[in-house]
Amino acid sequence: MNAVSFSDGTPIILVVDDDQFTRQLLRRVMEKEGYQVIEAANGEQGLEAYKRLKPHLVLLDALMPVMDGFTCCTQLQMLGNDDSLEQETFVDESFQDAARTPVLMITGLEDQESVDRAFAVGATDYLTKPIHLAVLRQRVRRIIQQSQLYQKLEIANRELQRLASLDGLTGVANRRRFDEYLDVEWRRLAREKLPLSLILCDIDFFKKYNDTYGHQAGDACLRRVADALRFCARRSVDLVARYGGEEFAVILPNTTDVGASLVAEEIRTVVNALEIAHAQSAVSEHVTLSLGVACMQPTPSSPPSILIAVADAALYKAKAAGRNMYFPRIPTS
Ligand code: GH3
Ligand code: MG
Ligand code: MG
Repeated sequence: MNAVSFSDGTPIILVVDDDQFTRQLLRRVMEKEGYQVIEAANGEQGLEAYKRLKPHLVLLDALMPVMDGFTCCTQLQMLGNDDSLEQETFVDESFQDAARTPVLMITGLEDQESVDRAFAVGATDYLTKPIHLAVLRQRVRRIIQQSQLYQKLEIANRELQRLASLDGLTGVANRRRFDEYLDVEWRRLAREKLPLSLILCDIDFFKKYNDTYGHQAGDACLRRVADALRFCARRSVDLVARYGGEEFAVILPNTTDVGASLVAEEIRTVVNALEIAHAQSAVSEHVTLSLGVACMQPTPSSPPSILIAVADAALYKAKAAGRNMYFPRIPTS
């Protein structure tokens, strides 16, 4: 009989029971099924073992000294939501992240109240003693298979969410993600009373670039500019997004106007240094950007669109003042 196989190892089952005979019986049966088994003699030991080894399934007795199964199960659910747990390298972390560890209660308690209580504290399933081994094997297999399926769905879901927020050409955030993130950060910084900066960047004479070098070269140019922006906006809270066409936006949370100007100037310099030939540009022999910078203290009563409007007006001024520059000019030293 084969156990469900995980990409990087055998599933681990934690058996928590104060009765040594039951633990040994469960160990034998589960090991025969191909699982790795660890034992604990009460709820407290069970929690300790869980923290160290993060098993894929817990077989949990209800009545035990020191800490009973109901209390243990309640605490396991809380631990399952705690990201700060130590991770052991041989455990499939993505599996562990995907769901709380399933708990199968195996107990002599048959009354309705105990069964209800077990499910109320988060048990996945319930079996009564004396243990019907054939039923146990099937339940364990099914629970582990369901967990594995859940893991795959969770991973696929995360990947879909990631892809749904990216711009297909450049790999930076798309407009949808930009709108979402600006909104979230606007509200957060309004609460924290910290400034939010935004830089809008527009490639100069990009239509002429396409006309001269073709759209494929245009696409490659957009990718290189996006990479340069990512290089310059490097804090984990910064967000680079494709705002539309040949326009990009950089969200800089908790950044003053002076800080944003420094980032804008660095972006301008780094893009110039790429030296992407642009023979038809009226301002340089290379591809350049014009940048509009805006910084505001968000308030709960104002919408983030006013920040975009200010950055857009600044970008327009940078264009009008000769391109290849950021606006407004703020002394940075
Ligand atoms: P300005 O200096 O005033 O910004 O002039 P511009 O030519 O850059 O601005 P305009 O808005 O006239 O032209 C933008 C060009 O960007 C036109 C469009 O074909 C091109 N563009 C937009 N999206 C893409 C894309 O995904 N790939 C390519 N290759 N070009 C794009
Ligand atoms: Mg444009
Ligand atoms: Mg342009």
